[in-house]
Amino acid sequence: MPNQLLTSFKADILVIDDTPENLNLLSAMLTEQGYKVRSVIKGSTGLRGANAVPPDLILLDVNMPEMNGYEVCQQLKVNDRTREIPVIFISALGDVLDKVKAFAVGGVDYITKPFQIEEVLARIENHLMIRQLQKQLQAQNERLQQEIHDRTKAEEKFAKVFRSSPNPIAIATVSEARFIDVNPSFLQMSGYSQEEVIGHTFAELDLGKDTVAISNDKPPCVYTQIIQCLPDSGSLYNQEFEFSTKSGEVKTTLISIELIVLAGVPCALLIANDITERKRLENEFISLVSHELRTPLTSTMGALDLLGAGQLGTLSAQGQKILSIATNNTERLIRLVNDILDLERMKSGKIFMRKAKCNVAELLIMATEAMQAMADKLQVKLIVNPLAIELWADPDRLLQTLTNLLSNAIKFSEPGDTVSISATISEYRGVECEENQHSLIKDSSSPNYLLITIQDQGRGIPEDKLQIIFERFQQVDASDSRNKGGTGLGLAICRNIVQQHNGKIWVESVLGEGSTFYVLLPLINSQ
Ligand code: ADP
Repeated sequence: MPNQLLTSFKADILVIDDTPENLNLLSAMLTEQGYKVRSVIKGSTGLRGANAVPPDLILLDVNMPEMNGYEVCQQLKVNDRTREIPVIFISALGDVLDKVKAFAVGGVDYITKPFQIEEVLARIENHLMIRQLQKQLQAQNERLQQEIHDRTKAEEKFAKVFRSSPNPIAIATVSEARFIDVNPSFLQMSGYSQEEVIGHTFAELDLGKDTVAISNDKPPCVYTQIIQCLPDSGSLYNQEFEFSTKSGEVKTTLISIELIVLAGVPCALLIANDITERKRLENEFISLVSHELRTPLTSTMGALDLLGAGQLGTLSAQGQKILSIATNNTERLIRLVNDILDLERMKSGKIFMRKAKCNVAELLIMATEAMQAMADKLQVKLIVNPLAIELWADPDRLLQTLTNLLSNAIKFSEPGDTVSISATISEYRGVECEENQHSLIKDSSSPNYLLITIQDQGRGIPEDKLQIIFERFQQVDASDSRNKGGTGLGLAICRNIVQQHNGKIWVESVLGEGSTFYVLLPLINSQ
């Protein structure tokens, strides 16, 4: 092992001895073994040589005139350049070697005459090996020190960014969604103090109430659900959530959540962006523009109707064609404006659900009848599986939801495809993520939920769009609104209506094979 190590290591040995026979003998012996040997007869010359080009090892005679070996060794040890070089003392026959002194001044070993060649080589190799290992250890230490230094710097940098970031940032455990650390911006947004947050969970602070939960119990915290699902569902980027502050104010935030591991513990790094004000202005702007658009649009539509009815003279065939395009576009604009205003009113709570006892079978049949003409036109087969059961709901709004979902299902189908709408009683009360899929939560304590399913064999929806299409103006394809005549608001309206019935709406889809939209509504409290 030592030899193996040394073969790749051309050791440079300095021999300091005033006896020429010794020098010659050692020099010849070591050169023969493949070492590079420098020999000098005076201590002072040896010191200069060692300082100029530090050797790997020094063989040092104890007895020399002018400056003896102990003194030379002492000088070597006070010099930074030569301090670490291993020194082996040589004592000639008849010399008295003070072993204690030899070690005290920094020698690592000694050899006495007569030299036994194997012994000398073994000692030299041993010390070279020790020195080599020491060097490796030193290098490793330096690397580690550097690493610690770099890491400390990176941590300092992160800590600075964390503390001074204008974005609210929080770190919480994945297992319980319990806060480990939050930055000042987070405290400012939430209104809580550091002590009130650290060690507590999202649910305890009631930061995010899941408005879509179905049950009379305290609604589950949406943040807790997302954080606990993080290892399965992966990170979340800029999704809109409501955030309840200590004072009860509800803010609109864009949240990104990333899974990180801190000291072996899976944690969620949550970065928020408070867009409450931006959202308010945006909503104000949209509803203002929509209001302003509605009156002129209605009068344009009236004028187009007059033209179409021939009350202002007969139109040529070309004129009729252009009029029909203008009417279609105006109708689309009116639909868009109405949808925007509808959604805004619903969100701001200005529209109340007029709930009454209604028959599910009747609703399903009415929705199908309303969409039959469109299905016929696009050669799509429409199937209804009604269920005779009473539901406590706003029939107009529910009908609006079902016709919207049916209209989408037909619109995104190919001629010859089938669209079906069914209703069943369900024992399930909601959805939870499991390996990125939605799975229903069984609730046998109160099994009365109605599950309406709208299934198509159309083009399907990509997995990354399954949630986002329920946001307003979100479409899978930017050309959908042009080609299919939609506004991108239908599903947002459906979701709002379903939520106002304490229900849930979601979609499952396989690209190229079709989509199934689910509407789950509670039958409890239906009287
Ligand atoms: P739109 O008025 O554009 O239909 P929606 O909010 O109703 O607006 O739907 C949003 C988008 O979701 C649609 O533009 C379409 O891209 C997609 N989508 C909705 N339903 C379906 C479906 N059944 N099959 C395929 N894509 C659908």
